[in-house]
Amino acid sequence: MQQRTIINNVAILDHERTITCGHIKISNGTITEVSDAPFVASSSHLEQDVVHNYEGKLLMPGLVNTHMHMPMSILRGVSDDLPLDRWLKEVIWPLEGKMTREMARAGIGLSLIESIRSGTTAFSDMYHLAREDAHELAVASGLKAQLTRGMITAFSNEQENEQKLQQASEFAKAMNDDSTGRLRGALFPHATYTNSLSFLYRVRDVAEREQLDVQIHIAETEKEVKEHVQQFGKRPVEHLLAEEIIGKGSLLVHSVHVTDDELEQMHEASVNVSHNPQSNLKLGSGIAPVEKMVDQGIVVSLGTDSAASNNTLDVFTEMRQAAMLHKGTSKRAEAITADDAFKMATVNGNKSIGFHKSGLIKEGYDADFILLDVSAPHLQPYRNRVGTVVYAANKNDVTDVYVNGQAVMQNRVIVTLDEEKLLFEANRAQQELLGIHV
Ligand SMILES: [Zn+2]
Repeated sequence: MQQRTIINNVAILDHERTITCGHIKISNGTITEVSDAPFVASSSHLEQDVVHNYEGKLLMPGLVNTHMHMPMSILRGVSDDLPLDRWLKEVIWPLEGKMTREMARAGIGLSLIESIRSGTTAFSDMYHLAREDAHELAVASGLKAQLTRGMITAFSNEQENEQKLQQASEFAKAMNDDSTGRLRGALFPHATYTNSLSFLYRVRDVAEREQLDVQIHIAETEKEVKEHVQQFGKRPVEHLLAEEIIGKGSLLVHSVHVTDDELEQMHEASVNVSHNPQSNLKLGSGIAPVEKMVDQGIVVSLGTDSAASNNTLDVFTEMRQAAMLHKGTSKRAEAITADDAFKMATVNGNKSIGFHKSGLIKEGYDADFILLDVSAPHLQPYRNRVGTVVYAANKNDVTDVYVNGQAVMQNRVIVTLDEEKLLFEANRAQQELLGIHV
């Protein structure tokens, strides 16, 4: 008989339903029952059942961060208030040039700790360094992860570029074949301005041959779009769609500067969007037309981008920002609702990075959920509504994180990773990188 875990006496909330006080049953990592009444032991109750009583807590799907660069967390706070172009060229790329594998690993550890504490159960990470470390630590963390080997090829020769593509493809296949089922892979050329068109054709061919999804930073700034039009006579999204470099299952990161025509084409092609509102705001890149995307039926999810450009990996604040921002630009309070933003951060996020049975508290879904202590003053009087989570809750309310029914954080203690050690290593890595001697 399979051991069951029962999470009892909790409020339950997801994109489809709310329960004031009930319980869920978990077996073999999957939710087997969701009930709107507390669990009461009876004669059919199995002795090996593990019952957790979480009275006063809210159980909801874990949040999903569909875009970040974990190693860059050691660059948090090194530069603020610059536009993307100058920020990359003057600060970030020179520092990344000096980043060692150990430093990148330290950034990964820090990102995982921050993600868990922020109630994230699944994420997508793109970087070119320390991929084996990302793999090892992601598995150890217990979270679900899409890991990619990012590719910038504008500054290297053809042979080196082919090697990068080969590595990225092998890594993506290994992630998709991982036996835990908690990992996914994809091909992630950094952008159109950091890769030639001929290289992007190679990416397309390899993606098609190996059945891999493609992700790319695209239409992030006006400058990028303008220069692309000057060079190719087409806007980046319409161009890449026409060349079939992106298509069904692709994740377009940012998509800030897209026309109505491009939105229609994006919907027709079934591409998904990772909306990164705070990174776009902080770098002065602009505001993506998310209301139009949702109206078109495009699957929009949320990403933080790196902790160097945000400066946090907190999906709660992205969710709130997504719900607020578009009301401001459209001057309509119903533009993006709490429900829209919650869906982006849960079901849509999972779907966009390949976890199709996650994001709802529902029978047959993976037991990926978080618990929030709702007794804090900012959540009182507590009303079990999506609006409460989106507009009032924050990451500090998260007490427990479960993925596939396994505890990742319990009662605010991370049980899968050594938090103290990883925070120490991240601080030491930044000091080494910046040449600070203490
Ligand atoms: Zn990014």
